[in-house]
Amino acid sequence: MILDTATAIAWVSRAAELVRTDEPRLTRLDAEIGDGDHGANLTRGLLAAVVDIDEKTPDSAAKTLITAGRALISKTGGASGPLYGNGFRQFGKELRDEGDVTAVADALEAMLRGIEELGGALHGDKTMVDALAPAVAAFQEAARSTSDLHTAAVNATKAAEAGLAETIPMQARKGRASYLGKRSIGHEDPGAASTVLILRALAEVTAP
Ligand code: ADP
Ligand code: MG
Ligand code: MG
Repeated sequence: MILDTATAIAWVSRAAELVRTDEPRLTRLDAEIGDGDHGANLTRGLLAAVVDIDEKTPDSAAKTLITAGRALISKTGGASGPLYGNGFRQFGKELRDEGDVTAVADALEAMLRGIEELGGALHGDKTMVDALAPAVAAFQEAARSTSDLHTAAVNATKAAEAGLAETIPMQARKGRASYLGKRSIGHEDPGAASTVLILRALAEVTAP
């Protein structure tokens, strides 16, 4: 299985569906330690990405994800828009055309680097990076022993879920939640929660 154009389109669509379905939970998480708009922000951005992909009919997986990234940057709003947007753009740029499990591992790493470079968050700062970094590591690990994109994506999703749980005892050092200081402790990070959904979408659309 490779990440081809159809699979990339399916990934963005499924991510939009999963985020829209979980919008109330993402909103609640962001209300606890932020301003309660993460679910709405990301639903808007991903639905705009689906529309843009539909209108522009990109002819490769890479262009599909670059298109999604641009839409996320311009339509999401909030800190997460430029971060996810740049992440998807870097993913697409690294992929070039379409990719097997090794190429997707490299693309995911480029996505993570894009988010880290723009946001300046490190592992442990209680952000989406705390779900994405272990997910990328798990995907790379899987890519060394399997050519199956789905297996690697499932492992990455599990690692992201574990990373999300690890954000609960963290004190936020980046983004709006950092204004709360110690009061940010004891809650899941909303961006880490949406990262789980984005990876789960990839696992679902690569299922045999
Ligand atoms: P805003 O805080 O502007 O309302 P959102 O609510 O859409 O934006 O997104 C909040 C999420 O963005 C946080 O839960 C966190 O995961 C992520 N985030 C915020 N700042 C950063 C950063 N500098 N680096 C990485 N992720 C960040
Ligand atoms: Mg918010
Ligand atoms: Mg906001």
